[in-house]
Amino acid sequence: MTAPLLLGPLRSTGRLLLTAALCISLLTGVADAATAYRVKPGDTLSGIAARAGVSMASIQAINPSLRRTDRVQLGRVLKLPNRKLAARTHIVREGQNLTVIARKYGLSVTQLVRANPKYAGGRALWAGTKLTIPARRAAARTSTPGATVRRASVRVSRATGGTWLWPVKGHHNVSSGYGERTLEGEQEIHYGIDIVAPVGTLVSAARSGRVLESRPDFDRGWGWTVVIEHPDGWITRYAHLSANLVRTGELVVRGQPVGRVGNTGRSTGPHLHYGTYLRWNPRDPMSLY
Ligand SMILES: [Zn+2]
Repeated sequence: MTAPLLLGPLRSTGRLLLTAALCISLLTGVADAATAYRVKPGDTLSGIAARAGVSMASIQAINPSLRRTDRVQLGRVLKLPNRKLAARTHIVREGQNLTVIARKYGLSVTQLVRANPKYAGGRALWAGTKLTIPARRAAARTSTPGATVRRASVRVSRATGGTWLWPVKGHHNVSSGYGERTLEGEQEIHYGIDIVAPVGTLVSAARSGRVLESRPDFDRGWGWTVVIEHPDGWITRYAHLSANLVRTGELVVRGQPVGRVGNTGRSTGPHLHYGTYLRWNPRDPMSLY
């Protein structure tokens, strides 16, 4: 489990070798096909959404029968959108304003207005109006690879009322922050932070929850990865591990070791990629500490 997958183009780039500890977030792209999914016993819409890696709203948006409910009927076949974050359209309903719509899609009002400039001046929004929902770009901060080194301290999060544990004890150097960054000359969005630590360092669950995924995920560049679903809709991702210490479905408690730091997947040096999502809407982990 310690053999890292080394990608030729990344490895051969001197700049990347020097900056080290970068990984590519593959969450950008353009939406296309949907996948059919038959509802199984015990399924909930939030659970299906979490497993598919998409928001409940996006499933509701392409399944007319779910538009006004979060109940899923056993045996019904649902369309699941690809977990890509391209622009979509939202049809405004009675009583909805920009704030409500932005929140629904995990966007800020500014981001929503930027995609719909004619509402910048506070123009009234009528039911039936079509709004463009931009690809999620939760942070507009540009970070240069290797240049961001921040220290994090553990404190009680105002956002959730719970305490988030820093996942790699004693290692607080963040080599690449959350948000837009330039990698190999290309703009991309990094939905998480990269915490530098030696291979083998224990990675702990930031909060208690259930293991949603524990597997090698080389297709999406995450390498060996653990994803934990927390009871209030938060999800944490731990990627590029050298070892996974938990199994899918297992319940874990806050602070429990779930893996070891590695360099697997699209990674250019030993680090933990740590991602936090609220109902799969990416959030900056640093805002939780
Ligand atoms: Zn990363």
